[in-house]
Amino acid sequence: MRLDTLTLQQKDAKHHLHPFSDLQYQNKPSMTQMISRAEGVYIYDNDGRKILDAMSGLWCVNMGYGNQSVHKAVREQMEELIYYNTFFGTSHPPAVKLSEMIADVTPEGMNQIFFTGSGSEANDTMIRLVRHYWASKGQPTKSIIISRKNAYHGSTMAGASLGGMSEMHAQGGLPIPGIVHIDQPYYYEACVEAGEALDRAEFGRQAAQALEAKIDELGEDNVAAFIAEPIQGAGGVIIPPETYWPEVDRICKERNILLVVDEVICGFGRTGEWFGSDYFNIKPDLMPFAKGVTSGYLPLGGLVVSDEIVKVLRDAKVELAHGYTYSAHPTCAAAAIANIELMHQTNIVDKVKNEVAPYLANKWKLLTDHPLVGEARSLGMLAAIEIVKDKDNFIRHKNAKEVVGVCRDHCFANGLVMRAVGNKMIIAPPLVCSNREIDEILEKVWQSLDMTATSIN
Ligand SMILES: *Cc1c(COP(=O)(O)O)cnc(C)c1O
Repeated sequence: MRLDTLTLQQKDAKHHLHPFSDLQYQNKPSMTQMISRAEGVYIYDNDGRKILDAMSGLWCVNMGYGNQSVHKAVREQMEELIYYNTFFGTSHPPAVKLSEMIADVTPEGMNQIFFTGSGSEANDTMIRLVRHYWASKGQPTKSIIISRKNAYHGSTMAGASLGGMSEMHAQGGLPIPGIVHIDQPYYYEACVEAGEALDRAEFGRQAAQALEAKIDELGEDNVAAFIAEPIQGAGGVIIPPETYWPEVDRICKERNILLVVDEVICGFGRTGEWFGSDYFNIKPDLMPFAKGVTSGYLPLGGLVVSDEIVKVLRDAKVELAHGYTYSAHPTCAAAAIANIELMHQTNIVDKVKNEVAPYLANKWKLLTDHPLVGEARSLGMLAAIEIVKDKDNFIRHKNAKEVVGVCRDHCFANGLVMRAVGNKMIIAPPLVCSNREIDEILEKVWQSLDMTATSIN
């Protein structure tokens, strides 16, 4: 029997603790959005209302909802071998096939895959492997990981510590020791602080050089790695200036620091390349991934490790004392295999690069004409608008968080999932959006911005 929406909401409020939510929802059950069904790029609430999901769930449903080939692969794998582990010298066909398929699309010299259940676990794994690597090379003092303020690397103790979200650090005594943060390459915010437009290229170089300064301050012999997202996702789709990544790459190589590029959002096609590292021409040593690898059909993540690092770990001749019950879970791996096969069959990565992302970019940049929009930026299938009070002078609303909250609510009421972050509105639509669906996103963004302008005046 299908429960009516209010009953569902009331039962939900009674027993279900929501992640990243104001727990007051338990006093106002009717505020909870109850999503019951999805198809293509649309989700449907429990009353059948159709909503365009311009966030791909949580940045993951890249190939859209309802792909029958993935459903079929999962069903068949469940009948064959629902589960087995990969500990103590065992493996299974889906693990074999998926690691080969991933190695096939990763950058040169990156051919070793460790599987986890999520992006957070991938980043926990990263810290252990990186420190184990330096210790194995006889340099155990190289242990500090440098990350960035406002970064997002997951929600476990290590993931949230690597992340640079102060609200997260405030709960649970974070960050854990051995992790330090430098400033992010957030160009627009720097303009807001300066009250004028800055030189973009120069700002990018300076932001990268903060890494060099931090390494020198800590001492090269104490630093293990630098971690960053190619484009900061949860931080608000922060696209670094073109000068940023080449400089970071140079600094890491010169100072003998491992470069960890967190591909959990950018990986698997979102930038119009297989990985964000390909887009920015970065040479990483490790790449955590998750989300788009299965398009969210089942949970799976992992870490791509360079051949070089694995050689050192192998030569250390000690057992790797790390793993998860569900590392390379066969059924989840089957979903990833079918998802990546679908990506190849539909040639989606090239399609994003040559058709879908350029179409989105051309429409998106027109949003700068709206009085509330200070900047409209996009790269691949990631886009953001900076909501401001006075765009000529880079002045934000004093109650910016409230304003974007109003905008987000208008979007939802207009049938569009768009996310509010601090003083920005962002989207990360499925890679499979048609031009018509992108037009619909843009129509709804304009309409919601107009309604926001009216509401706040
Ligand atoms: C979502 C995300 C993570 C964490 O992944 P989970 O699967 O939620 O643990 C890590 N890094 C980045 C960049 C992310 O966006």
